[in-house]
Amino acid sequence: MSGVLALSSPGEHPPNGKPAGGEPAAAGEFAGPLPPVWRVALQGRCPRCGKGHLFTGLLTIRPRCAVCDLDLSGNDAGDGAPVAVMFILGPILVIGAFWVEFRFNPPLWVHAVIWPVVALPLAVVLMRLAKAALVALQYRNRRAEMGL
Ligand SMILES: [Zn+2]
Repeated sequence: MSGVLALSSPGEHPPNGKPAGGEPAAAGEFAGPLPPVWRVALQGRCPRCGKGHLFTGLLTIRPRCAVCDLDLSGNDAGDGAPVAVMFILGPILVIGAFWVEFRFNPPLWVHAVIWPVVALPLAVVLMRLAKAALVALQYRNRRAEMGL
C-alpha cells in the first residue's frame, strides 16, 4: 500500500517528465501546450507558442514567429480563408441590402455608399479570423508531415 502512495505523491511528474493532462509537445524545441484555436484566431497569435504575432500588416502571415521561431512560411491555407469569408459575408450583405431597400426605400446612391463601407472592414476582420484559424488548424493537424 505504501508503494502505491509513494508513486502518486503530489507534485511528482509522470515518467515522461511532462505535467499530466497537457497536450502532446510539439516537435522541436518548443514543448509547451498549444494555445486554443479560438485564441489564435481572435488575437492573431502564433499557433505554437500563442505569444508571437501571426500577422505583419493587415492580412500577411509572418514568415517566422518572433517568439518561438516557428517557420510559418509553410502554412499556406490557400483559398480556404477567402472562400469561407465569401460564404459568410455574401449572404449577410445581400440580406442587409434587401432589408435596407424594403425598409427605407433609399435612393440608389445610398446603397453605393453604405455597402462598401460595411463590406470592406468586415471582410478584412473575417479574413484575419479565418486565416489565423486555418493556420492554427493546419499546424495542429499537419505539423508532423510539414516537419514542424
Ligand atoms: Zn511562436
